Amino acid sequence: LSAQTHSTRLHPPPEGRGFTLRLDKKEGILSMETNGLLPQVQDFIKKPLLNLIDGQWSSSIAGEEFSVENPATGDVLAQVAYGKSADIDKAVSAARNAFESGPWARMSGSERSKLIWKLGDLIETHLDELAQLESLDNGKPFNVAKAADVPLAADMFRYMAGWATKIYGDTFAISNPGGTFKTYTLKEPVGVVGQIIPWNFPLLMAAWKLAPALATGCSVILKPAEQTPLTAVRLGELAMEAGFPPGVVNVVNGFGDTGAALASHMDVDKVAFTGSTEVGKSILNSAQGNLKKVSLELGGKSPNIIFADANLDAAIPGAAFSIFFNHGQCCCAGSRLYVEESVYEQVLEGIVQQADAIKVGDGLDLATQMGPLVSREQYERVCGFIDSGEQQGAKKLTGGKVEGDHGYFVRPTVFTNAKPDMQIVKEEIFGPVVSVFPFKSEKDLVAAANDTNYGLAAGIWTENVSKAHRVSSAIKAGTTWINCYNVFDAALPFGGYKESGWGREMGRDVLANYMETKSVCIQI
Ligand code: ADP
Repeated sequence: LSAQTHSTRLHPPPEGRGFTLRLDKKEGILSMETNGLLPQVQDFIKKPLLNLIDGQWSSSIAGEEFSVENPATGDVLAQVAYGKSADIDKAVSAARNAFESGPWARMSGSERSKLIWKLGDLIETHLDELAQLESLDNGKPFNVAKAADVPLAADMFRYMAGWATKIYGDTFAISNPGGTFKTYTLKEPVGVVGQIIPWNFPLLMAAWKLAPALATGCSVILKPAEQTPLTAVRLGELAMEAGFPPGVVNVVNGFGDTGAALASHMDVDKVAFTGSTEVGKSILNSAQGNLKKVSLELGGKSPNIIFADANLDAAIPGAAFSIFFNHGQCCCAGSRLYVEESVYEQVLEGIVQQADAIKVGDGLDLATQMGPLVSREQYERVCGFIDSGEQQGAKKLTGGKVEGDHGYFVRPTVFTNAKPDMQIVKEEIFGPVVSVFPFKSEKDLVAAANDTNYGLAAGIWTENVSKAHRVSSAIKAGTTWINCYNVFDAALPFGGYKESGWGREMGRDVLANYMETKSVCIQI
């Protein structure tokens, strides 16, 4: 796994060393001498985590709390305020106030930019702390959170800080015969935005959502996933430290009912959601009441394709990385691996070797390459898929659940002999489980790769540049990675075709999620 030093690139080492953590002392990845918790982390999880509404931290109005657990041990980690519809009402009204009349409403792009940049700096200053919180809460290795999640989150704020001063419409002539007109468009912030995020990259998903909304001048109510609220709450504290005016960034914790209260709220102008396709569809229903704008970043069942002419030393570890990174809990995971027949056996053997070499353990152990799945529910779900694969006749070459008395560990799992109508091939597993298929011709391959309701991402491994472009064009997906996988960058748009979503995250494209276009027409 290329927790590549401090870079914000998440691709496997080009020389094909595969799933081996490269720890770089100079870059400070080993700066934490032990896997003990930092004092600030210990203090943070000792007190109940509250909701941030109008610049104040408060318990839920109903006084309810829920617990979050450490998935490596199953122990309770923290108590969290459970926001209900009354808390959402209060947060929406604070966000409305901030949007319409607070200092936020009068701030220039340059002033917004400074605050957003400062938040990026604060994230970086708290790198170890945020990485520990993420590892504790989500289970992912500390080293991965430190090399990837946290720096990418800081980068997202900095990238969007740049856009805050570059938001403008067009000027153009119209042909209306009724007179002489001057016409132009303005880009205006959509308003009060509800943002509902998942547990797989808790801090990074908060950054993907908050940064562009703030760049455009919206005010936000963020609803973190119930499994992983720690870093979102800490991010709220850092936003206050950065100096965002009260009501601009609100964080309300809770479950699906909290999210539904936000998505259906009549005074929310837009809802942005990342999560499962099933919940994404229910967000659409919730949003109907006031026809609020909706953007959705949903599930996937992404094909990863290895042609016989690929550099297999890169493609094999790349395929392992595509599915096993973040324990397969990625919407873009390369969960269907298609391999050209003449190299099929070699690739299969290679991916099994990669899978077996991965060290699974507690994320805070610096030697760990794959932590536990996020929760008991997710563990049971993934194990259920593995059982169904075996029951329906697929062959499990390696992997499966780790028997033990604590923690939600599943080993990297490889299936062959799977058929297109099996559950493990059709449905998003969101775990470290890959099905490997041989293919004969490019035509068959493209048909098989596109045989899915999803369209989030694909990987293509070949040394033939024409083939790479041809197949990339034929695949119906929002991202195609060629000779790489899981490369994320704040400048690179990400999102889905088909049932993988509406709209794009990151890049210039994401700004459209948070803006309205106003046409201004002046008769001269
Ligand atoms: P996953 O399946 O990966 O657990 P979900 O799609 O269930 O992810 O959840 C992603 C986010 O959506 C979480 O913050 C969760 O609380 C929230 N959520 C779940 N159900 C609903 C709902 N009906 N309406 C709004 N938000 C919801």
